[in-house]
Amino acid sequence: MKSIRELYKIGRGPSSSHTMGPEKACRLFEKENGVCDEYKVTLFGSLSATGKGHLTDKIIRETLGEDKTEVVFDCEKTRLSHPNTMLIEGFKNGVLKDKWEVLSVGGGAIKVKGKNNIAPIDVYPHKSFEEIKEFCLLNRIKLWQYAEIFEGDGFWDYLSEIWQAMKACVERGLKASGVLPGGLNTQRKAKTLREQYVLNENPEIRDNRTVCSYAYACAEENASGGVVVTAPTCGSCGVIPAVFKFLQERNDVPEQEILKALATAGVIGNLIKTNASISGAECGCQAEIGVACSMASAGVAQLYDMSVDQIEYASEIAIEHHLGLTCDPICGLVQIPCIERNAVAALRAINEVTLAEFLSDSRKISLDMAIKTMYDTGKDISGKYRETSKGGLAKLYN
Ligand code: SF4
Repeated sequence: MKSIRELYKIGRGPSSSHTMGPEKACRLFEKENGVCDEYKVTLFGSLSATGKGHLTDKIIRETLGEDKTEVVFDCEKTRLSHPNTMLIEGFKNGVLKDKWEVLSVGGGAIKVKGKNNIAPIDVYPHKSFEEIKEFCLLNRIKLWQYAEIFEGDGFWDYLSEIWQAMKACVERGLKASGVLPGGLNTQRKAKTLREQYVLNENPEIRDNRTVCSYAYACAEENASGGVVVTAPTCGSCGVIPAVFKFLQERNDVPEQEILKALATAGVIGNLIKTNASISGAECGCQAEIGVACSMASAGVAQLYDMSVDQIEYASEIAIEHHLGLTCDPICGLVQIPCIERNAVAALRAINEVTLAEFLSDSRKISLDMAIKTMYDTGKDISGKYRETSKGGLAKLYN
């Protein structure tokens, strides 16, 4: 497993695979080849199907140069190395200087075909949750301590920076109003949700409204191309900040405890990224919102100081009950169902921990089994429901 630093990344939305990955690829191409006179970038698969709505063409043009970059959407080619594939061609004096086939593999990470990709190194020796759990039990440590051992110097500073960026994203989203870009006429709702005054409101409903407003705030920032933290992706960036910020405020949780929860959630997200996928184009929304919910559940369980076994159960429940969740964003925009889905997953993450606290000793499904099932299910889901906007809500919405 790679470092958690490869999972939580600060960048611009609305999609880690459709904006952060392509932006990174363009920057690397330019760095290696120098500035070219002209560029042609061809998008395939999910990048071509939903690239317009996800602002992929916009970020590519902004990165390589508005007036010298042609972006082509090729929806015909189907035999692809990865659902998110792009071809970058750079020309100098009318002659092709270089061309790269790039795979945007999720969470902002890329692979360049035929290149010796300098992949981030594995910093964790364990490959499954069973192995991690055994190590933790043997050494009598929690999951956040497990992360601390292998992440090394600067880990807590890094998590602190991530947490500040998450909170800033919520705050920005709560202040913003108006219509989100893209033409779907989606109104921002976070501010209204947060500030609505309801006479004699049930405290439980008020709490739920607060959590949802935080999730909306981040997801709406993402949809408008704002700065977010991938957790694990841009599309699912609202779940963890909503849950942790709400619990921090309600229970007066010290900052360091939130960082421990972030580390715990990071171990879970990292494991799923390694053994399955965090890409909606590869495995549907179960790999984005499902994983975000699983990470948040693990973090909440840590905030309640639960055992490694209970944390495993909390994160397993989230994966198991998001199995088969499809990705069908209307008009290719990360708005419907994405924004609302962040809020629903945040509420589920808080609730799941109750089951984990009381029933972890009688469960029959391990986290490793749920992760493998999620991956197998994702591979079986029709391409119509994997970030192509060809099925589901995207097809029926007029
Ligand atoms: S439906 Fe889920 S996976 Fe698809 S774009 Fe929206 S948040 Fe991402």
